[in-house]
Amino acid sequence: MSKNHDQVYVIDANVFIHGSFQDLSRMYPRMLTVPEVTAELESTEAGQRFDAEQVTVMVPSDQSVAQVVDTVRDCGEDLSEADRRLVALALDQDATLVTDDYGVQNVAAAMDVSYTGFQREEIEEQISWIYRCTGCEKTFDPDGIQGNERCPVCGCALKQVPDEKDTV
Ligand SMILES: [Zn+2]
Repeated sequence: MSKNHDQVYVIDANVFIHGSFQDLSRMYPRMLTVPEVTAELESTEAGQRFDAEQVTVMVPSDQSVAQVVDTVRDCGEDLSEADRRLVALALDQDATLVTDDYGVQNVAAAMDVSYTGFQREEIEEQISWIYRCTGCEKTFDPDGIQGNERCPVCGCALKQVPDEKDTV
C-alpha cells in the first residue's frame, strides 16, 4: 500500500506502546487518536513519548460511534470503549486505522474503514516456509534442499509456499 503524505492515520494504544518515536512519525506523518487511548497510555512509558509526538487527539461523532456499536453487535465482536471510538474516528475522518487487533480489524472491514497492521512483519516471520516442486509437487523443507532451486527428484523449479500445517 502506498503511503502518501495526505493520508491520515488513526493510531491505537498498542502501536504507541510498541512503536518508537522515529518509526511512527516516519510511517504516519498525520496521526490521530481518541482521548481514551491517551488515558490508557498515561500510566505507561509510552505516555511520555506520546506527548513529544504530534498526535491530534479528537473525539468521534456520536453518529459514528452508534454505527460502530451496531456493527460490533452484528459481527459478534467484543471491543473496548477505546477501540470502538478509534474505529468511529477513522470513519469520521476517512482515515486509515493502524491496529494489530483482529477484532478491531474485522469491525473496520465490515464498515469499509481502511486499516493496516503495525507489526505485520512480525506476523509474516511466524509463517514457516517450505518449497513445492512445480513439476511433481513434492514438498521439501528448506534444510532438505540445501539452497538448490531445483527439485532433487525431478529437476523442476521449486516454489516457496507457506507451510499449511503451521497455519491456523
Ligand atoms: Zn519435482
